[in-house]
Amino acid sequence: MAEGKALTTRAADFSAWYNELIARAELADYSPVRGCMVIRPNGYAIWERMQGALDQMFKDTGHQNAYFPLFIPQSFLAREAEHVEGFAPETAVVTHAGGKELEEPLVVRPTSETIIYAMYAKWIQSYRDLPLLINQWANVVRWEMRTRLFLRTTEFLWQEGHTAHATEAEAEAEARQMLGVYRTFMEQWMAMPVLTGRKTDSERFAGALRTYSSEALMQDNKALQAGTSHNLGQNFSRAFEVTFQTAAGDLDHVWNTSWGVSTRLVGALIMTHGDDAGLVCPPRLAQHQVVIVPIYRTDEERGNVLEAADHLRKELVAAGVRAHLDAREGMKPGAKYYEWEGRGVPLRLEVGPRDLAAGTVMLARRTGGKKEAVPMAGLGPRMVHEMERMQADLLETARSRREANSIRGATKEQFLAYMEANGGFVYSGFCGRGDCEAEIKEQTKATIRVLPDEEFQSPEQPKTCMWCGRPSTSEAVWAKAY
Ligand SMILES: [Zn+2]
Repeated sequence: MAEGKALTTRAADFSAWYNELIARAELADYSPVRGCMVIRPNGYAIWERMQGALDQMFKDTGHQNAYFPLFIPQSFLAREAEHVEGFAPETAVVTHAGGKELEEPLVVRPTSETIIYAMYAKWIQSYRDLPLLINQWANVVRWEMRTRLFLRTTEFLWQEGHTAHATEAEAEAEARQMLGVYRTFMEQWMAMPVLTGRKTDSERFAGALRTYSSEALMQDNKALQAGTSHNLGQNFSRAFEVTFQTAAGDLDHVWNTSWGVSTRLVGALIMTHGDDAGLVCPPRLAQHQVVIVPIYRTDEERGNVLEAADHLRKELVAAGVRAHLDAREGMKPGAKYYEWEGRGVPLRLEVGPRDLAAGTVMLARRTGGKKEAVPMAGLGPRMVHEMERMQADLLETARSRREANSIRGATKEQFLAYMEANGGFVYSGFCGRGDCEAEIKEQTKATIRVLPDEEFQSPEQPKTCMWCGRPSTSEAVWAKAY
């Protein structure tokens, strides 16, 4: 592949940049079915690493995986009033199968609360059966009119955790715990800082008592809801008669939570770290962490260089580094650099005859800076160290960018000016009234991302609602969002 046309820059057109980056890095493609996405191997490799890390964290917190059916009887959805109202407009429904019209249409799952709680009603009898802590990795379908690769597609991949508890306090603790797990994953693996907090009623999950969210700020200063965790209270257990005998011998409904993240995280990763040359993948999620590019002219050089490069690769692999030797023939080193840069590989090593003679290799970092000659001896530990530093730097850079694009204690005028200009996170007082929220959304397209958790709250809490001047009941963080 020859060097292609440069990507549209982020500054010129962020949305065009995003689409071109995905095509160049071969992360995903449009499918023959409108709104559906094909995740290509380079994109799927990132998702697999995300899955692996999250799956371990779920298991470490006591959850087990299970699998529930893709089809849900239509009547199930209707049992929880808010839930059906929230999801009915975007469901796909199977009415015919096996050449016959079905007696009851089947909904292709948009989320699995209803089918899972119908099963929990069979499985849970006593307080001894609780807590029940289950996660499912699955695909879901929500009929979207306007789609964007990874961010909003008709079918997407995700995980949905569904738990049942004996008390409200336990369910609340679980919902909060999983929000914390998401935050840890997003910060430590994705190098993506997030704000956490509670959603207002208008942004709450359909059927939940309380929804918690982790929100990240993308490079175009729009927020992205990266993961949510819901305390469902007893709404679903009442609808599906999920009851248990308490230790005292009474009959009670269980308390549920659900929580999920999706392939949307790949989009978040792109928009958090990507630059005008393409994807920048944090080392912990990179398919190839180090790519070795051999440089030679003659056949003799070729033999020596390839031998040395493969030796280096083995050394790196032995040190726990995911290293790849790009030994493709008929492709200039420059074209290889360009391709691996576009795909976001964190580190590149260039090995030529002169490097061999000097006992060094040239190191290039995806995050920039001068190329540097580094000794071949001890290359494994050196690369491990480089990656740790890059992982930490990416998080710090993203955090600084977010803070530089946040304002606190905003007045109505400042808020309007901010949303009119570049946008970002605006912290302000909020009266808690849906009317104010709706009016602001109508006029500025900004929504309340979260009522922030304590550690994100401003040192001085606002006293009045920045919009209507009534007393503030909570600080709110506003932004335009994906
Ligand atoms: Zn207000």
